[in-house]
Amino acid sequence: MKFTCPSCNDLVRDFVLRPKKESYKWYELSSTALFCPYCGAELEMERKSERWALLVLPLFVYLPLTLVLPLDNPAVLATKYLVWPLALLGMLMLYLKRRIVVVDPPSS
Ligand SMILES: [Zn+2]
Repeated sequence: MKFTCPSCNDLVRDFVLRPKKESYKWYELSSTALFCPYCGAELEMERKSERWALLVLPLFVYLPLTLVLPLDNPAVLATKYLVWPLALLGMLMLYLKRRIVVVDPPSS
């Protein structure tokens, strides 16, 4: 899969994952970020597109219920016909709507 870098418009096969800083103080947690291998811009997945993942949450409530309730219970039927399709829609839209945005443009 190829992405277009929003900073330099090059087609990038794999973004580089590396630490955000050279060194950390003892009280800081280390963190990594995505970088473009060509222009060095710091990138991240757009937060707005991650909201589609919320559609998966009802599954965590209803799926345990289907294990303890009888099969003809309305909650089990709702899981089958409503909660599963919503979760699948959420995962599909999360995949389709993902966008990469520039956090820190390269210094030149
Ligand atoms: Zn780039």
